[in-house]
Amino acid sequence: MLDLKKLLDGSLQSIEFSLSLDDCSFVDESVSGVACANGVITNHSGLILLKGDVKPKLSVVCARCGKEYEYSTPIALNAKITDKLANEDEEEFIIMQDFAIDIEDIVRTALILELPTRYLCKEDCKGLCAKCGADLNESSCNCETKERDSRWDVLKDYFSE
Ligand SMILES: [Zn+2]
Ligand SMILES: [Zn+2]
Repeated sequence: MLDLKKLLDGSLQSIEFSLSLDDCSFVDESVSGVACANGVITNHSGLILLKGDVKPKLSVVCARCGKEYEYSTPIALNAKITDKLANEDEEEFIIMQDFAIDIEDIVRTALILELPTRYLCKEDCKGLCAKCGADLNESSCNCETKERDSRWDVLKDYFSE
């Protein structure tokens, strides 16, 4: 827990934080790796703001070609911190407990919410050929021209009976 009392009573203007998570498999069982986060919490005349970023360094698997690659797109942290919610719609607020916040929990939540549910090694990854399994990013195969919808085969059999 990060104690914010000195920020709240005015004896500090800002509090910096940094932490690292050495196992990010809580995000998804197919994800492994680490993440580090750092940032600063400031008191703007009573408005407590948290700003920072999370830098993941994850080993993930491309959903199209199955290749393992490193995912390292940073996630921005931007939140307001309060001791109680004025109304329940204020989702962007983080609630203090005993004038402290759980930075690790905030970072974990950001990773869970912001990491993609499906990873692509590149935006236009061509994936694997469904027939021969060739990696179409690296080579083309001869299957594509013969490709047809197998549902037609079923109909053809039906009519020939
Ligand atoms: Zn891929
Ligand atoms: Zn093929």
